[in-house]
Amino acid sequence: MTQTLILPHIERLAPYPMGERPPEGIRTIKLNQNESPYPPSPLVLKALRSIGEEELSRYPDAVNGGLRAVLAERFGVNAERIFCGNGSSEIISLIMKVFVGAQRRVALPDPTFALYATAAAVHQAECIAVPTDSDYAISIDGLLNSGADAVVLVNPNAPTGRTLPPAEVERLVSRFPGLVIIDEAYIDFAPEGTSALPLLGRYENVLLLRTFSKCYALAGARVGYCFGAEPLIAALEKSKDSFNVNAVSAKLAAAALQDREYAKRTAAAVCRTRDWFASGLQALGFRVVPSHTNFVLAEPPSGPGAPTARELYGKLLERGIYVRYFDHPRLADKLRISIGTDEELAVCMAALSELVG
Ligand SMILES: *Cc1c(COP(=O)(O)O)cnc(C)c1O
Repeated sequence: MTQTLILPHIERLAPYPMGERPPEGIRTIKLNQNESPYPPSPLVLKALRSIGEEELSRYPDAVNGGLRAVLAERFGVNAERIFCGNGSSEIISLIMKVFVGAQRRVALPDPTFALYATAAAVHQAECIAVPTDSDYAISIDGLLNSGADAVVLVNPNAPTGRTLPPAEVERLVSRFPGLVIIDEAYIDFAPEGTSALPLLGRYENVLLLRTFSKCYALAGARVGYCFGAEPLIAALEKSKDSFNVNAVSAKLAAAALQDREYAKRTAAAVCRTRDWFASGLQALGFRVVPSHTNFVLAEPPSGPGAPTARELYGKLLERGIYVRYFDHPRLADKLRISIGTDEELAVCMAALSELVG
């Protein structure tokens, strides 16, 4: 009975597969949502303590002027070309609503960040999956030849960790006639010069997404942003909920951005730990996809009696270690493990060594 109250495309929708949330009050090691293992910058905590009564009792700035100004200054981009959202998740959903919808088609590399397909389905947009090669390299020609109206490029990609060189990204942007959505959630963990930001001034068909959830350690605050040509940003602005970023989170994000040194230092620490962890996994016989992110995708050694990736996931969970298993044809033989602290990953490594050894 209630079923008929719900629109058919929503009724058919599979819920977005989210990393589990460990129960509260017990000690666990959480390596399943690519959060920062470090606290936010001391400047963020100071900003949090300075929140006044009015910031709670009054409505926030509907156009997020303060945060846009800080972003504009930091990245040398006009504030009219910046949009802020309640996490980049909100921006992904808005993009599907504003630029794709039921009338148009969007091409997605497969695999990529699963929220794109979910957001497309919610807005009745048709997805065209463009398979990556056996090493998960994204096919620019595949995206160009997809016939879609919009394409998504997560770079570095999730959940593979692989990165496309800037020249390849530019080849896509310059030849694709429609909208190119570039998601740089993990850009702070990639080599210098990877970002597509320099393309922004030269192409009008790009939206470049970023988030405070990963490197800036603000996943709980929910702030993301995107850069794009003025008409695209204006279209997003018209279509969003009135007060999409709350006053507290906007202030914390601005403070996080000011502490460049801290962001650099924690990102470098994550990269060092990642490279150490990846070699350790390889020494245990895992095949590790080269990563420019704060996670690794790894295939456990096979052989008679060896546990499958899914079994390993379950056995780690029993020990309070939360990693990610994807029930997806291209990922089912692998685990995605977020980069925690050295201590957390030493515990994870010891457990894996025991389980596959
Ligand atoms: C984590 C992630 C996001 C979501 O970020 P929020 O700002 O927390 O919504 C967006 N894109 C990719 C590729 C991500 O991995």
